[in-house]
Amino acid sequence: MKKLALHWQILIGMALGLIVGFIFRQMDAAWFVADWVKPFGTIFINSLKLIAVPLIISSLIKGVSDLKDISRLSSMGGRTVALYVFTTVVAVSVGLLVVNVVGPGTSVSQETRDSLLKDYQGKAGEKIAAAEDQKNAGPLQPLVDVVPDNIFRAATSNGDMLKVIFFVVFFGIGLILVPEEKARPVKEFFDGLNEVILKLIDLIMLAAPYGVFALLAALVVESPNRELLVALFKYSMCVVAGLAFMVFGFYPLMVRTFTGRKYADFLQGISPAQLLAFSTSSSAATLPVTMERVEEHLGVEREVSSFVLPIGATVNMDGTSLYQAVAAVFIAQTYGLNLGLEEQITIVVTATLASIGSAAVPGAGMVMLVIVLGAIKVPEEGLALIFAVDRLLDMCRTTVNVTGDATVAMLVAKSVDKLGEPHVKNWDDNYPPGERDGAFADGETAVDAVDAVGTEDPNA
Ligand code: ASP
Repeated sequence: MKKLALHWQILIGMALGLIVGFIFRQMDAAWFVADWVKPFGTIFINSLKLIAVPLIISSLIKGVSDLKDISRLSSMGGRTVALYVFTTVVAVSVGLLVVNVVGPGTSVSQETRDSLLKDYQGKAGEKIAAAEDQKNAGPLQPLVDVVPDNIFRAATSNGDMLKVIFFVVFFGIGLILVPEEKARPVKEFFDGLNEVILKLIDLIMLAAPYGVFALLAALVVESPNRELLVALFKYSMCVVAGLAFMVFGFYPLMVRTFTGRKYADFLQGISPAQLLAFSTSSSAATLPVTMERVEEHLGVEREVSSFVLPIGATVNMDGTSLYQAVAAVFIAQTYGLNLGLEEQITIVVTATLASIGSAAVPGAGMVMLVIVLGAIKVPEEGLALIFAVDRLLDMCRTTVNVTGDATVAMLVAKSVDKLGEPHVKNWDDNYPPGERDGAFADGETAVDAVDAVGTEDPNA
């Protein structure tokens, strides 16, 4: 029997997770899901995060050292940063346009507002306190934060990815500058390490449908009551409409215009990463899969993807910046505050910076929203208004964050002539046996192959 493509398996896992979560919620048995289902979702996310740092180290060292000369690194770096800033500014502007035209906050009744503020006061307080630390730092603190004082310490925390990237790029430059015969064994070591890690991603992805099932079931039993969701429906729709425009309007335009590729092929290649981003709400947890998909299914060469994507996961958050713009204006509208042109421009600047500063983990965009609210003098306690739907919107914006990174990776690759044909070399179920380059023997499925792990190499 032909195996379903990975993205379908993940979608089915998601749908079953929603249904099962809903049934257990109706049966007042949320504890069962929390105790016996959710842990599998957590294990799945942990296993992805587990390989994020080794993946960045091995693939970026290989990528940078393959560049052969430093001027190529700086030209690629310049394009990457320029495209990241451009796409983020577009996203914020789209968000502002939608929220100003629709005005979702103008119709929230005084009563709903008070009840939302009361229910989520405590939780909003925690986010505000978390943002306070960031605000108290000096203007150059983000720059200081990029340079680690101890690489081993930085590498032990998934939250310090930029520090690790800094070290690895620096190390890669060193590798370019030493004589070839000295560099070769180091490169070969990291190249081999990279292959092993990519294989681990394949193995973890076999569990993806079950992982997302557990994550979504847990989410349903933990989500707040329906009345609050309905009150925030218009606001949520503004965020979702803006995000949908990015995925179905802006990115297709960019991909089509600058790479000539069909957007349907792009979506087909990147969809497992998108579904994973949706289920985990974390660009960092999704990064290993994003990298694998972009390299093997979109044809971006590793020296580009290994540079552009880890940086993108940390700093390029189009979905987050769009959400921050909509949320800031929505909260202002709910308080009856009118924002003029000056405040709207402030939102463009601060939401761009705040999204760059947001960590690639669930809920981080909301912490940084405090900074946007502060800049336009809207009460920070207003965060409590949007808390009820934040997790759901986080799932959607993370999907856009990851899609934006993949889009920029393709554009940068094209501009430096590093965009080739997709070359699926790991196990993949999108291609029938025989069409992949040597993935399985005829008729063998990924599951047969994984049964054989440890006894023989399924790629042999
Ligand atoms: N969860 C988002 C991400 O990981 C960040 C956020 O907007 O909260 O990309």
